[in-house]
Amino acid sequence: MAKKIAVLPGDGIGPEIVAEALKILSFLNTDMNLDLVFENALIGGAAYDAFGTPLPQITLNLCKNADAVLLGAVGGPKWEPLPHAVRPERGLLSIRSELNLFSNLRPAILCPQLVDASTLKPEVVSGLDIMIVRELTGGIYFGQPRGIRLLENGEQQGYNTLVYSESEIRRIAHSAFKTAQKRHKKLCSVDKANVLEVTELWRNVMTEVGKDYPDVQLTHMYVDNAAMQLVRAPKQFDVIVTTNMFGDILSDIAAMLTGSIGMLPSASLDASGKGMYEPIHGSAPDIAGKGIANPLATILSVAMMLRYTFNQPAAADRIEQAVNAALDAQVRTADIHSEGMVKVSTSEMGDTVLDAL
Ligand code: ATP
Ligand code: MG
Repeated sequence: MAKKIAVLPGDGIGPEIVAEALKILSFLNTDMNLDLVFENALIGGAAYDAFGTPLPQITLNLCKNADAVLLGAVGGPKWEPLPHAVRPERGLLSIRSELNLFSNLRPAILCPQLVDASTLKPEVVSGLDIMIVRELTGGIYFGQPRGIRLLENGEQQGYNTLVYSESEIRRIAHSAFKTAQKRHKKLCSVDKANVLEVTELWRNVMTEVGKDYPDVQLTHMYVDNAAMQLVRAPKQFDVIVTTNMFGDILSDIAAMLTGSIGMLPSASLDASGKGMYEPIHGSAPDIAGKGIANPLATILSVAMMLRYTFNQPAAADRIEQAVNAALDAQVRTADIHSEGMVKVSTSEMGDTVLDAL
């Protein structure tokens, strides 16, 4: 039976980069008989404008009935004056939790062609290949109670709650250990167990689950040290597992080591391997509509989709090799451009990858 992919281009550069990723996926669909069908829907600001909500029921239903979701990005200055409950970003948070996508895989790989684009010295970053496993449906981004309240003395007070139950920690732990088993078998769990009780529980559960994976070497690190180590000696890491907020921050640091946020894909998976795939960057309103966004993060997200949800490693390898070939041909979008390289637009980059395929 055909496998269904829900396509949610979103806002800003979202539609531009998703169009390039679909070029690649449509070609492989035909070339390798993948039997995939696509259906589009609105999310984020585009959905708010059409339906008054960033996650319409019709979009949610489509995603629930699909085998995978391909997402561009959401948000932009146009929707910033809106209340939090209907902001584009809330649509993204809601879909992650509605689909139970608790495990967010964020590879940070430095392509050898882009060593000079990294903010760090070549000897510190060349060969960098880290996987960050971020818990995505719990922690402080979802904890209740939350809000801004008025105190009796007339002062306002903002509050959020950081909560994790044992079962939430256990399932992300299993996901991270399994990921490490497929890589170099080193897992670093990042917490703040010296200050936050909830992450002391996190550390204890990680250690306990680790007994089921004797082939994986588990270490623990405080988040402040992990941030420093990522910039000082990033190659010491293989797989990092951490909470929702720490993962958000650490993966942006890791992104900069690889040269451009426009290069990095992500997968968000549920317990069955069904998933949503998106670039780690946002809707980049500053460059939207200019045709200069880098589509490679989204194209590489499609490779992750083929690998993790559709179990098509050969198709995923072909995409990754084609991206590599495009970089070898010295073709660069503006964000990764340097002297002597050929500067191309979003769609020219997509075409170059397609030609390589
Ligand atoms: P979000 O809150 O959704 O994560 P953000 O505010 O962190 O978004 P991004 O939209 O990710 O910001 O953009 C950060 C910077 O990176 C911007 O200057 C943007 O132009 C640039 N950028 C993001 N994605 C790309 C891309 N695919 N190609 C080129 N530049 C990009
Ligand atoms: Mg961001």
